[in-house]
Amino acid sequence: MHLSKREAPIETIRTRAYTIPTDKPEADGTFAWNSTTLVIVEIVAAGKTGIGYTYSDASVAKFIEATLGSLLIGEDAWNIDALWLRLQQRVRNIGRSGFAATAISAIDCALWDAKARLLDMPLARLLGIVRARVPLYGSGGFTTYTDDDMRDQLAHWVHENGCRWVKIKIGSEPSRDPDRVRVAREVIGRDAGLFVDANGALDRKQALHYAALFAEHDVMWFEEPVSSDDIAGLASIRNALPAHMELAAGEYGYTLDDFRALLANQAIDVLQADVTRCGGITGFLRVAALCDAFHVPLSAHCAPAMHLHVACAAPRLRHQEWFHDHVRIEQMLFDGAPRAIDGAIAPDLSRPGCGLDFKHADAQRFAA
Ligand SMILES: [Mg+2]
Repeated sequence: MHLSKREAPIETIRTRAYTIPTDKPEADGTFAWNSTTLVIVEIVAAGKTGIGYTYSDASVAKFIEATLGSLLIGEDAWNIDALWLRLQQRVRNIGRSGFAATAISAIDCALWDAKARLLDMPLARLLGIVRARVPLYGSGGFTTYTDDDMRDQLAHWVHENGCRWVKIKIGSEPSRDPDRVRVAREVIGRDAGLFVDANGALDRKQALHYAALFAEHDVMWFEEPVSSDDIAGLASIRNALPAHMELAAGEYGYTLDDFRALLANQAIDVLQADVTRCGGITGFLRVAALCDAFHVPLSAHCAPAMHLHVACAAPRLRHQEWFHDHVRIEQMLFDGAPRAIDGAIAPDLSRPGCGLDFKHADAQRFAA
């Protein structure tokens, strides 16, 4: 066989943004929203179409169209690391984090999906399967919810989806939170672990004050008690938390150095990473290797359908966030979106790539 015949030149890149209204107003400790924007990237190489996406801003689609896409046309789709580096170099002067990182993440996911489809195999098998099923924690409990909204949602995750853990948002009005945490614990009983996420809303003293109150209801995970920009603050809170309460952060990690800083400063007990922000499958695998080197567990943030295959392959992965907003969108707009069974999701190994097919016609009404 001639090696040259195995090349897979990238022929086309298509990208579109869709803005999907939430089913109810949603808010956490530092942000409120009524819609979520999904940016889809499709890459065609040697006749196969790979799909990737990010939850970002509609302008990311334009940026990919105008700036990043042309770097890839005609290049060999097998060489993902080389293409990834070229994209990183292209955004050096505008900043690799944030906006640019979400664009590159969506492209990278599409390249990995294309690679697996070119080989006609599921992505998890291409990456190497460490676990056949990925445990989920239910995530939502928005601060805009009434107590009854929250009760219904938590009961659904624990009693219908079988989730072993659930997470609620806190920090919009901190004085309300001990009571919200009490309500959450009443609903789930002793059947599930309880997580809280402040999205960086508190200061250091507040965080420790509320951690002590949450401990009375056996909260076992305190996510971003203070801003993740305050790495020293995270580290000092982590050291002062009750022994059974873990500190988690990492969802705003865009470059490998962001994750290294959290790990090297011993700022977290569990590292979070988001494949739609941290450089796609390529970035996520590198974060997973860092976690291995630091002996720290990894938890996948949001976008469960996009994480599923890489989550099967990451050695220290503990669980996947089953985020209400994204679960709803992915089940609406993708054929092959995973379903929660006994508190876990599993890839359908009869489907190639990430196993996702975007429902273009259904999505059209949300086109941004
Ligand atoms: Mg969070």
